[in-house]
Amino acid sequence: MYQAKAYAAASAVSPLAAHTIERREPTASDVRIEILFCGVCHSDLHLVRDEWHEAMPAVYPLVPGHEIVGRVSAVGAAVTRYKRGDLVGVGCQVDSDGTCPACRAGHEQLCPNVVLTYNAPDKHTGGVTYGGYSDSIVVDERFVVRIPANLNPAGAAPLLCAGITTYAPLRRRRVGRGTKVGVVGLGGLGHMGVKLAHAMGAQVHVLTTSPGKRDDARRLGADAVIVTRNAQEMRRHAGSFDFILDTVSAAHDITAYLELLGNDGNLTLVGAPEQPFRIPAFALLSGQRSLCGSVNGGLPETQEMLDFCGAHNITADVEVIPMQRVNEAYERLLKADVKYRFVIDMASLSA
Ligand code: NAP
Ligand code: ZN
Repeated sequence: MYQAKAYAAASAVSPLAAHTIERREPTASDVRIEILFCGVCHSDLHLVRDEWHEAMPAVYPLVPGHEIVGRVSAVGAAVTRYKRGDLVGVGCQVDSDGTCPACRAGHEQLCPNVVLTYNAPDKHTGGVTYGGYSDSIVVDERFVVRIPANLNPAGAAPLLCAGITTYAPLRRRRVGRGTKVGVVGLGGLGHMGVKLAHAMGAQVHVLTTSPGKRDDARRLGADAVIVTRNAQEMRRHAGSFDFILDTVSAAHDITAYLELLGNDGNLTLVGAPEQPFRIPAFALLSGQRSLCGSVNGGLPETQEMLDFCGAHNITADVEVIPMQRVNEAYERLLKADVKYRFVIDMASLSA
């Protein structure tokens, strides 16, 4: 074991603060990564504050972070894919059984024995896993991906969660030329959804509660912007969308978005508000609409997404912050005031 610097929450009501954690020395199949940047996902905030208590109770001290980019500093004897100095990423998972049908299909995120990057039982230490708000991490090479050399490392960090979480449902629904796509919520996930759907050739509409994000939405690749609090604007688009990606982090009226779908249209939920939804049957029966969920993505698809971003020169629009400002960043996330992802510069941990 060795000691790593980190930021942790001591309870659901404590701010994140400096903390020292124990990490394992790399085993034969492990890679040790010196973390350069880690994105701040709204899931970090939900978990730190134990807002998902029923589905995923928080264990403290909790070190969040699953949008990790760093350099390999050591590899175990059996590691074949990475060497010291490689620029790599780690996303939402760090282990899985590797043998179940989901793992064999490359959908590790669906494995019944998946191990999340933080707040999950850690078989190596007997404690819980600690995420990327830290100077280093040790991960099995199966859960490490390669960052394309042309991408800015800070801008690439959010691809590890916001990128794959939006890329996977867009691909699953075969979004492309001729598809009318709506992206609800222009935050970290939403702005990646806009960039990716635009790069896939779709006609992209941003559905936002923030009229001030209109110009940004267009710059990011949206063809049009609908301010959802404007009932008239919403009515004009009723029944017209093929696919809607809902990335909203707080309680909201999902029925208003379902009613924008055309026949056989699909709304995929990736946002994870604390409160349950109430949906009238006819919002789904009319037009035979469907509603489903999606959870980040597996390793092969994460690498495919990174290579797609490399080929199209896509990174997140980031606001790089020192670790010492992470609590302030959380408060701004709650006000939908992020353009469009906070990314922690890990050099600040040793400042
Ligand atoms: P974020 O950056 O905070 O963005 C959320 C956006 O939702 C805001 O920018 C805002 O956009 C909109 N919004 C916020 N409050 C709203 C409200 N009351 N009504 C309507 N819209 C509202 O968050 P994020 O990091 O993108 O994460 C979004 C959600 O996805 C979180 O719940 C997170 O936990 C979840 N998530 C899920 C997965 C998965 O695998 N499924 C992965 C990562 C994250 P506008 O200003 O444009 O309205
Ligand atoms: Zn995330």
